[in-house]
Amino acid sequence: MSVAVLSVVGAGMSYPGGVAALTDVDLDIHAGELVAIVGPSGSGKSTLLNIMGTLDRPTTGTVRLGGHDVTSLSDRQLSALRGRWLGFVFQQFHLSDGLTAAENVATGLLYAGVPRRRRRHLATEALARVGLAHRVGHLPRQLSGGERQRVAIARALVNDPALVLADEPTGALDTATGRAVLDLLTTLNADGTTIAVITHDRDIAARLPRRVEIRDGRLVSDVRQQPVGAA
Ligand code: ADP
Repeated sequence: MSVAVLSVVGAGMSYPGGVAALTDVDLDIHAGELVAIVGPSGSGKSTLLNIMGTLDRPTTGTVRLGGHDVTSLSDRQLSALRGRWLGFVFQQFHLSDGLTAAENVATGLLYAGVPRRRRRHLATEALARVGLAHRVGHLPRQLSGGERQRVAIARALVNDPALVLADEPTGALDTATGRAVLDLLTTLNADGTTIAVITHDRDIAARLPRRVEIRDGRLVSDVRQQPVGAA
């Protein structure tokens, strides 16, 4: 198989006071996958997400992003690598109130050294991919929750990352809107985007083709499945 986009190898994470939030976690994500990482509250999902997103270094083990061992890089090298390889989607969208949808999406390119005009063009294109071509000039407060999350997804996509990490992306949305956002992620994946969705919700995990379960800081299962609701 090809080199994994992201490899977590034997990763452990202990917090001061001796809490072992992760123990001996191995996880490979390959290009083209759509993976759910599911576990109850306190199971270690955020800790794993922070390690996968290179926001934290594991206390033991390593993380490789596109074959690069990130645990040995400086903070500056790390943020450059992160900007190039990863896109993030958060439960609470994290859009800037004073910026239009297109401007919010364009912030995903700030570190890539893309000229301003090109940023606008790419932002408009990314908004079209998430079905918001008609909302480019709207401010977040003029958008519904589902539309805001689509803007956040467009921002994550605009730099064409190797992997999108989505942390409870439907957690702030009602069921129908959340379903639509999950359908969008599924469509984007079918078009080639590699995505990991972190969730506590087993129904969401059942809708994705690969489900990794975490319990008490350990991966306890990793299955490929026929997604519920798939045609
Ligand atoms: P989840 O995201 O699944 O709710 P977390 O990764 O937040 O789980 O937490 C896993 C375990 O690590 C929990 O026992 C939690 O209390 C502990 N933990 C998380 N962050 C810290 C921290 N900064 N300091 C100490 N313990 C922490």
